[in-house]
Amino acid sequence: MTKRVYNFYAGPATLPLPALEKAKEDLLNFENTGMSVMEISHRSKEWQNEMDAADALIRDLMKIPNDYQVLWLGGGASTQFLMTAVNLQVEGKPMEYINTGGWSSKAIKEAKLYGNVNVIASSEDDKFRYIPKDYNISDNAAYLHITSNNTLYGTEWHHWPTPPSDVPLVVDMSSDLIARPVNVKDYGAIYAGAQKNLGPAGVTLVIVREDLLNRVPENTPSMLKWSIHAEKGSMYNTPPVFPIYMCKQSLQYWKDFGGVEKIEKLNREKAKILYDVIDQSDGFYKGHAREDSRSLMNVTFTMASDEIESKCVTEGTKRDLIGLKGHRSVGGMRASIYNAMPIEGVRALAEFLTEFKESNQ
Ligand SMILES: *Cc1c(COP(=O)(O)O)cnc(C)c1O
Repeated sequence: MTKRVYNFYAGPATLPLPALEKAKEDLLNFENTGMSVMEISHRSKEWQNEMDAADALIRDLMKIPNDYQVLWLGGGASTQFLMTAVNLQVEGKPMEYINTGGWSSKAIKEAKLYGNVNVIASSEDDKFRYIPKDYNISDNAAYLHITSNNTLYGTEWHHWPTPPSDVPLVVDMSSDLIARPVNVKDYGAIYAGAQKNLGPAGVTLVIVREDLLNRVPENTPSMLKWSIHAEKGSMYNTPPVFPIYMCKQSLQYWKDFGGVEKIEKLNREKAKILYDVIDQSDGFYKGHAREDSRSLMNVTFTMASDEIESKCVTEGTKRDLIGLKGHRSVGGMRASIYNAMPIEGVRALAEFLTEFKESNQ
């Protein structure tokens, strides 16, 4: 058996083992072509079939309606920060944002390069510990943008905003895609870098309602137009074939697992195990996020001092519990427990944290 650890890193993150094993099996000879998937032409029928299968799987898992396009693009979620503004801005209308942390802030910064941005709410006043509840969305907004799960701070939207009917809701779901069911019809566009919940780094999924593809100004550079990528089936240029292939393997795994409702159930169970340890630790572990805003994906907490936190990280590592250090902008500790983190890993971490508390309090 190859040695595997429990990887709590925030991204790139752990992948389903069967998906990795399938890739290992296919590596030298993809679909009997005598080539790896990295070597084969992206215009070949074998590749087209693979791409179509990835598409069908995500459509099936997320129940994506037919009037939505699915795009597989390079450039990371960070490129979608600007592509959202490029594709959805409307002359004379504000682009509205809710700022819930580092990723939202970056999205806001990029949109400001393209036009008038309104930040209608922010939780920066309390170190991004919560999801704002009081805000007014303008009737004439070009769109409303939110970040559904805040990877750095460990907060997550549990009640979606409901913008006026002609204001599309755009959501960065990079760190909680297919972690719980969503009703795609409620969104104008959804995007997600793959490397947290979907597959490896290098591909970004964009799901966009077709009528919104007409907004983009004619003179926009081709690679920045969602409409061109939609028209060309995400093959306007060479797509990131290996990352898409890996996403397909992991989507197949989740389909066989039983779909998004089952994933959510497991995610709730996993998160509860860790939040219970935090809440029952008499303040030895302090949760960063407010309870009503807690993330099912990134469990953030602090301890009494930097020293004790680094000791905890070091001892965790010795037990093959890897990647527990918090993000540099927040400090503290973070356990990322995305879809592919097995519940056994979460139990092992909970057991370790309980013992660590007993021997260090
Ligand atoms: C990781 C992350 C990003 C950045 O993704 P890249 O693919 O590295 O550009 C954006 N948004 C959220 C919510 C993230 O977690």
